[in-house]
Amino acid sequence: MFGAVVVGIGTAGWVRIRDMLAPLPGSPAEKLNVRAFISRRKLDSQQGVSQVTAEEAVSREDIQVAFICTENMLHEENVRTFLQAGKHVCVEYPMTMNYKAALDLWNLAQEKGVILHEEHIELLTEDFKELKREVEGKLLQEGTLHFTGGALKPGFGFPAFSGIARLTWLVELFGELSVTAATMEEDSGSNYCKMTAKLLTSEDRPLMWIEERGPGLPRAKNINFQFDSCTLTEVPHAPGGAVGLFMQDLIHFSAKLAGQVSPGELHMEKIRILHCLRLADNIQQLCKR
Ligand code: NAD
Repeated sequence: MFGAVVVGIGTAGWVRIRDMLAPLPGSPAEKLNVRAFISRRKLDSQQGVSQVTAEEAVSREDIQVAFICTENMLHEENVRTFLQAGKHVCVEYPMTMNYKAALDLWNLAQEKGVILHEEHIELLTEDFKELKREVEGKLLQEGTLHFTGGALKPGFGFPAFSGIARLTWLVELFGELSVTAATMEEDSGSNYCKMTAKLLTSEDRPLMWIEERGPGLPRAKNINFQFDSCTLTEVPHAPGGAVGLFMQDLIHFSAKLAGQVSPGELHMEKIRILHCLRLADNIQQLCKR
């Protein structure tokens, strides 16, 4: 069994506790036992789990795993604290707010001999799996992914990082990418921002990624992918799977803890995560110019 602590009791942290209290029967997630949570607020017990300080959590021998569920800007510091203490870490995306820090954390995890896992529930949705099936075998000519959504709360950071789920979709669908240009429009008074990044596939096909947020904007992913044979203009709507997205992620993470994921698969995942964070970093640099 692995004892776990959940850091940050927002939406994601609450779900992590819920899922560990009722793991999918027969899955490796049954090996996780939630023992405590950490919050900056002084809270009553959450779903029967009690609060501890970070100092207590890192020193407790019955806690071997930490779930980092805070707002994005605090991920790096929290991940580092628990890796340093020799604990396995599952962090909600994005792992960090710059590429270099993610590389350092990965090296630290390797040095400590522990698992570092970045949650990517966007890859586990039935809609995405269907989209991937539809894209497979087709030759992209050019494409756009335009995300819109409500304004983000403070602490969620630059859009290329807070929106890394969209970038991860593009990389999973079309392979490694490069950035050729990026711009950012912002109106802090009205809490509006629009980031536009021009990307290229390894076959020099242009892909545009737009991340637009503002009060009242509907949460939507608009796509236009032109292939040699057809054009896709809508993300497919597939019926939801029987197992929730965070539970699927929990099963994947606990399979890693149990040594059930091959080194090859772990390596591929790490390469993809670091590639996306490096792209996000490049986009941010170009927007600053
Ligand atoms: P959230 O805003 O619900 O919580 C974020 C942080 O704010 C938590 O640390 C929480 O403790 C703190 N917080 C919340 N309410 C508070 C309050 N009233 N006073 C003081 N602190 C408070 O955000 P979230 O959706 O849980 O996101 C956390 C992380 O999970 C982010 O990195 C996000 O990118 C990631 N994530 C979330 C989802 C999702 O569906 N919610 C999906 C994928 C990834």
